[in-house]
Amino acid sequence: MTSPIVRFAPSPTGRIHIGNARTALYNWLFARQHGGEFILRFDDTDKARSKQEFADGILTDLAWLGIEPDRIERQSARFADYEVVTADLKAKGLLYPCYESGDELERKRSRSRARGLPPVYDRSALKLSQEDKDALEAEGRKPHWRFLLPNYKDDLFAIERTEIHWDDLFIGPQTVDLGSMSDPVLVREDGSWLYTLPSIIDDAAFGVTHVIRGGDHITNTGAQIAIFKALGFKSPEFGHHNLLTGSEGEGLSKRLGSLSLEGLRTAGMEAMAVASLASLIGTSYAVEPIAEMQGLAKMFDPHKVSKSPARFDVAELEGLNAKLLHALPYETVSDRLSAPEGVDGALFWDAVQGNLEKLTDADRWAQIIVSGADPLIDDEDREMVSLAITLLPQEPWSHATWMEWANAVKAETGRKGKGLFMPLRKAVTGSASGPEMSKLLPLMDRDTVVARLS
Ligand code: GLU
Repeated sequence: MTSPIVRFAPSPTGRIHIGNARTALYNWLFARQHGGEFILRFDDTDKARSKQEFADGILTDLAWLGIEPDRIERQSARFADYEVVTADLKAKGLLYPCYESGDELERKRSRSRARGLPPVYDRSALKLSQEDKDALEAEGRKPHWRFLLPNYKDDLFAIERTEIHWDDLFIGPQTVDLGSMSDPVLVREDGSWLYTLPSIIDDAAFGVTHVIRGGDHITNTGAQIAIFKALGFKSPEFGHHNLLTGSEGEGLSKRLGSLSLEGLRTAGMEAMAVASLASLIGTSYAVEPIAEMQGLAKMFDPHKVSKSPARFDVAELEGLNAKLLHALPYETVSDRLSAPEGVDGALFWDAVQGNLEKLTDADRWAQIIVSGADPLIDDEDREMVSLAITLLPQEPWSHATWMEWANAVKAETGRKGKGLFMPLRKAVTGSASGPEMSKLLPLMDRDTVVARLS
């Protein structure tokens, strides 16, 4: 394949969620796999809802995931190009003005449904004379503009089955019937563009070779291919991946803050855990934490993505996050890990990593290393712990210190197994579970431990 050019095209009307991340990742992985280019395109034709802070936030979210766009474009900067194409389509009669209000259209659709017909727009606006249009405009009505789909032979009111075909990167051969679709509205009453036309103009202008997006766009693709053709542009290849739903099967929306990348990041999830889950669920791969983006790029295969929606479950992400942390080498976390002062970071990581669900859980152990813990001592262990303090080996401490200490306590008290180790662990760490004591204890300071236990 010659170097592909792909684009991820969010509207900056909110922060992106895990489902958008899947689309971004699939584009990114595809581009990396084939040495291609990844364009981030902000679909911000809706001036009222698009916000700079969301665009900035999306860039932050993508960077966190490990996606650095090769090129950034904004539709709001390209209106002049859209004007030219719009005027051209109008001049060719392929974009025509319609005056029906939303209510009128809804009534038309109900009438069609009642007669057992598909609720397809009947093109009655094409029957309006110039006087009719002038009269409507004199009433204060403003037109919206529809693209005339090529789904007829000579009589444009005699709509026929007209198949559009493409070989989808993910789901194989697809057919959409333009005869069962309404002519799409490309320009709103206020003169603003819906996403469809700008997207096509941009895809052509930026040389996009592959449009990879969610399966909710499949029907749009039929009309878009027709528009590419009408404009004399070559259609890109299309790929539609299955959508992610929430754990109850509900659709995701930018309003669902909890599944936003920002929300997952602030909840302490690792970027690669999110990237691994977002790209591997709903595929024939086992969901495993992949530590590097390169690993995911090697695995990416649109044919392995299943056709039905995939459920995203936060609990699964948390499990994956823990599994990832348990396997990460120190170098990959060293700049984000706050090891206690004076303690070797690699030794600290070696001691605590197996006990973390989130990286920030390490802070609790750092705190215990620095200041000790409130001892947890059961009544029946009180005497044993008091004796144990007197047996605590002198420094320097090493990995062997914990066993030396336990053996000394065992020799004096006759305790063994859990009855020996657990009271000591609880006394020193204030908790019944945690890192291996042979690794944790030598990171602590003898005076602090003694002071806490006395
Ligand atoms: N802005 C569109 C969306 O977010 C882009 C769709 C596309 O990739 O063509 O749905």
